[in-house]
Amino acid sequence: MNYIDPHIHMISRLTDDYERMAHAGCKAVSEPAFWAGFDRGSADGFRDYFRQLTEVEPKRAAQYAIKHYCWLCINAKEAENVSLSRDVIAMIPEFLDRPNVLGIGEIGLNKNTPNEATIFCEHLELAASRDELILIHTPHLEDKYKGTRMILDMLKNESRIKPERVIVDHAEEHTIGLIRDAGYWCGMTMYPITKCTPQRAADMIEKHGTERICVNSAGDWGPSQPMAVPQLILELRLRGHDEATISRVVYDNPLTFFKQCKRFKWDT
Ligand SMILES: [Zn+2]
Repeated sequence: MNYIDPHIHMISRLTDDYERMAHAGCKAVSEPAFWAGFDRGSADGFRDYFRQLTEVEPKRAAQYAIKHYCWLCINAKEAENVSLSRDVIAMIPEFLDRPNVLGIGEIGLNKNTPNEATIFCEHLELAASRDELILIHTPHLEDKYKGTRMILDMLKNESRIKPERVIVDHAEEHTIGLIRDAGYWCGMTMYPITKCTPQRAADMIEKHGTERICVNSAGDWGPSQPMAVPQLILELRLRGHDEATISRVVYDNPLTFFKQCKRFKWDT
């Protein structure tokens, strides 16, 4: 079945992963900007990262007939450094008009600190002023509920941002209702350790339906599973869901969300 992985950090993955994903039906990926595993020392480090996301990675993906899209920001971990964050935010417009850029992300909170909130709001300002889509990272484990509430409050304060142009990611059982009730798109990440499994994602789809829900692997340099979306496809099939329903979650929904981006082109 054709599918899209709307949140995966392919620069951290082997080319073999592209090949396996292509064999499993992957037609496109979107790669949010994230933490490299260490704090970068200057805005120039981000400039090179954004060049990799917009120039290099699309070519690597194209070797396997996979379209590569990306999102730009400074992540919540490095947002603790406010002056570096402001230098990076000031540089983002240089890259925003590149053809594979979908918008601003993954912005959000990590430990729910005041500096993280300040930089989150400054990213929102940039997105609102340029009418960009937004992809949001919600914190892990015990910080998730409070962080998700804080994020939804900050979004609500920015009246120029329409909820249907925002996807709030890494939702779990205790946050999915909050996100969808407020009108946002909801991302579920299937991760072998801290986030949800394909089984839990299937349970949530059965409980909440398929509207405004996307699923992803958030594969990166840590323990993660780039084949998580195909694993969910199998889980839903084994539970007896029809192909159209499964395709809505893994293909139609991310496409519908991406198509709101003025630069997004899809010819298949
Ligand atoms: Zn991520």
